[in-house]
Amino acid sequence: MNKLKNKLVLLPFFMASISLVLLLIFNIFQPNINERKYLSFENDIKNKNIELVYFTNEPYIDVKLTNGTIYKTENPRITTFKEDLLKDGVSVSESPLYTIPTITLAIIFVSSTAILLFMLIKKNPRRSKALFSVDSIDLTPIEKNHMNFDAMAGNEEAKESVKDLVDFLKSPEKYNFYGARMPKGVILYGEPGTGKTLLAKAVAGEAGVPFYAMSGSDFIQVYVGVGASRIRQLFKKARSHGKAVIFIDEIDAIGKHRDGGKNGGSDERDQTLNALLTEMSGFNDKEGIIVIAATNRLDMLDSALLRPGRFDRHIEITLPDINARKNIIKLHLENKPTKNINIDSLAQKTAYFSGAKLESLVNEAAILACKNSSEFIDDSHLDMAYSIVVAGHEKIDRSNIRSIDKCITAYHEAGHALLSLKLLPEEVVSKVTIIPSTKGAGGYTMSIPQDNQYQNKDYIKRRIMILLAGRAAEDLIFGSDYITTGAYGDLKESTKMVTNMLTSFGMGKSLGLLTLAELNSINYNADSNIINEGKEILNSLYNDAKKILSENMKSLEKLADELLIKETIHYDDILNILEN
Ligand code: ADP
Ligand code: ZN
Repeated sequence: MNKLKNKLVLLPFFMASISLVLLLIFNIFQPNINERKYLSFENDIKNKNIELVYFTNEPYIDVKLTNGTIYKTENPRITTFKEDLLKDGVSVSESPLYTIPTITLAIIFVSSTAILLFMLIKKNPRRSKALFSVDSIDLTPIEKNHMNFDAMAGNEEAKESVKDLVDFLKSPEKYNFYGARMPKGVILYGEPGTGKTLLAKAVAGEAGVPFYAMSGSDFIQVYVGVGASRIRQLFKKARSHGKAVIFIDEIDAIGKHRDGGKNGGSDERDQTLNALLTEMSGFNDKEGIIVIAATNRLDMLDSALLRPGRFDRHIEITLPDINARKNIIKLHLENKPTKNINIDSLAQKTAYFSGAKLESLVNEAAILACKNSSEFIDDSHLDMAYSIVVAGHEKIDRSNIRSIDKCITAYHEAGHALLSLKLLPEEVVSKVTIIPSTKGAGGYTMSIPQDNQYQNKDYIKRRIMILLAGRAAEDLIFGSDYITTGAYGDLKESTKMVTNMLTSFGMGKSLGLLTLAELNSINYNADSNIINEGKEILNSLYNDAKKILSENMKSLEKLADELLIKETIHYDDILNILEN
């Protein structure tokens, strides 16, 4: 039956193609019609050379001679024209030359295309819906979701804060008995990759309810109204299941606060946000639907979202501390062949890594072990993976690097390393290399930051000096006319640090204890004082860095020489070099 239908489709398809081809041929091979003077036309009438005149209302008329020639000539547009021709014994046709076959073909083409489309739509109603409606979304919930809290290491407080949600989803009656109202919405906030999606999925998994996941950006579409309609579809679908967890990632895409009318509002976003709020207040507390939203920044959200009865529970998901990192690494190494892995030291040098970054670190190590056909994943793989995650892959073909460039990189990196050792001796310089990475760096110096809860002003200044030391070393050794573009990344980073000092942390003079973000909300126009102050600070830190380097010229040269020989050196090498 289906096969027969498939073949039937071919018929209009062939009709359409054949008529299209004929139409094209017809138009291409239509003889180019020359124009002749009206006098010559009159001559032809006199000499009885004419077979047929195509008489229309166009500015030109077509004429066919008995010998087959066709030409066109001016239409005289006199009312008696046709009568005159007939009196002269000339045959007249009222339909224009060539159009009859053309029109017939066009009709065949249009109707067979229409039939073809109709047949395709009938055959596949789902796809045709996607073809014709802009607001359809793919809403397949994850039903058999075996994710549980064990899949997430660290963030014990966050897990504790959602455990009652699981209990509520499992047995809402219990809570109804006490008249307790569960939060309809929960916001998980924290840096990317910290496991917000993971936690939301675990809530659904532990409670054994379907998990619907969408991203805020799915709701922001070109067409106004589409986002709102998608929200309604999402809730309708979730409700049809009874209990469910609805997860909306990047909620800020629809729920960003409207900053004092500065940018005006976007209609689409407002409509979508309103639809979300309406749906959330629409469902019953006892229904067992919980909306979990995730964002990187809680302070960016519209206060309408955060009011009681909406997203009124806010849970922070933090970057893992050293113990959590140990657990996350262990978790991802589970079920993998491993040997002699020093998890403690790995956890130590991965300060400020998110769960996602740790996962990718372990995965890179597994790939490396596989590439080397090694029986186990061991520390060497993890070390290499660490460099890859932090700095990118090493460039394999290094033959085309000029030796002068190598020399510049060596001094640049030696500058970073030396200052790091002098200014922040507790942060171990684990690796210095002049091997370029595929991420674009000419080389890099890696140090292991400490897990500090706060950074003080003195620390930030030291960090900036270490960043500027690369450029300072180039300047010192090769002269100010030969400084290179290699410092771009360092300059960007130090600019960011100094602006944060002045505008966010109350560590500068221009703004004092004011913060720029708050000033912006009252339309304050930032003045150039901040820029001047930032420039001054960076300049003075740069000069300090250069001074320290020039006082330790011997060490700098030794480090650079060693780098030129070995390309990559580690902490012990550096200590050895500097002791001798
Ligand atoms: P977010 O939603 O916060 O951006 P995800 O939940 O998507 O982060 O995390 C991405 C991946 O990182 C997870 O699939 C998981 O493999 C890993 N991951 C992140 N945090 C953790 C954690 N705390 N424990 C274990 N794995 C984690
Ligand atoms: Zn640098």
